[in-house]
Amino acid sequence: KTETDYELTGKNEVLQWYRPREKFSHKGTYGHALLVGGSFGKIGAVLLASRACLYSGSGLVTAYVPKCGYLPVQTGLPEAMVITDEGEEQIFHIFFDIDPSVIGIGVGMGTENGTVKAFGEFLKNNKRPLVIDADALNILSKNKGMLKDLPAKAVLTPHPKELERLIGIWKDDFDKLEKAKSFSKKFNCVLVIKGANTVVLYNDKGYVNTTGNPGMATGGSGDVLTGIITGLIAQGYDSLQAAIFGVYLHGRAGDIAVEKTGYQALTATGIIDSLGGAFLDLF
Ligand code: AMP
Ligand code: MG
Repeated sequence: KTETDYELTGKNEVLQWYRPREKFSHKGTYGHALLVGGSFGKIGAVLLASRACLYSGSGLVTAYVPKCGYLPVQTGLPEAMVITDEGEEQIFHIFFDIDPSVIGIGVGMGTENGTVKAFGEFLKNNKRPLVIDADALNILSKNKGMLKDLPAKAVLTPHPKELERLIGIWKDDFDKLEKAKSFSKKFNCVLVIKGANTVVLYNDKGYVNTTGNPGMATGGSGDVLTGIITGLIAQGYDSLQAAIFGVYLHGRAGDIAVEKTGYQALTATGIIDSLGGAFLDLF
């Protein structure tokens, strides 16, 4: 067993590797993010993640959704491109002929057998950086053999229940972090342990976030985080930096939003609307 070295992340830490926007840049400079997810009744999840990804600065954003997601995503987010799966209400076979710089996968995706198979096949063939959330995590938990197909330094963003499915139940917080750390080392992944004071774990280091508030305990909040981290990787941030910075921005946006709405009326869309404020507040 090795000691974990914890540090707090705030503005000063993320500013050390903040990447400014260059004058002679173009959308190609800032990457192409692909968000894969959604199923009938849960298209909103991938719409939220795609919008958050766009608002965090990704040059291009494409959503990959089942057929029933085409119209809502295209109308809800005209800046995004949409690719549809062959499945009407769920994803059956993840196939696309674009070349994204990063893929965020799992939000609202469901865990139907066809989707499980599609995700397994996708992982076997994928070489791109990944952000894995929600049902993609649930599929991994039930099919642990798939974990060996993760690309290096994939970012996994479990909430407490998803983490429990992934690493088993823990005795106390210390035990939780130790179990999570061995998991992250074993599969060489960046683990984002969500909650109040989200902890990002990689190797023997833990980065404890200082932003965010309980108003963010609301449906879609995590989907927004997935979009932000995916968007930051698209822009060239290393996946560990993107996870730390993404968690910081998500919380800061939530803190700015809550000033206007109060805790109860804070929504996932409200967090996205304050992302601009979170970037501006860095300087
Ligand atoms: P999910 O459960 O996937 O929607 O993710 C919830 C998101 O909201 C995560 O980013 C959490 O860190 C954040 N969140 C939930 N509850 C709180 C809280 N009490 N304080 C701060 N952030 C929270
Ligand atoms: Mg979630």
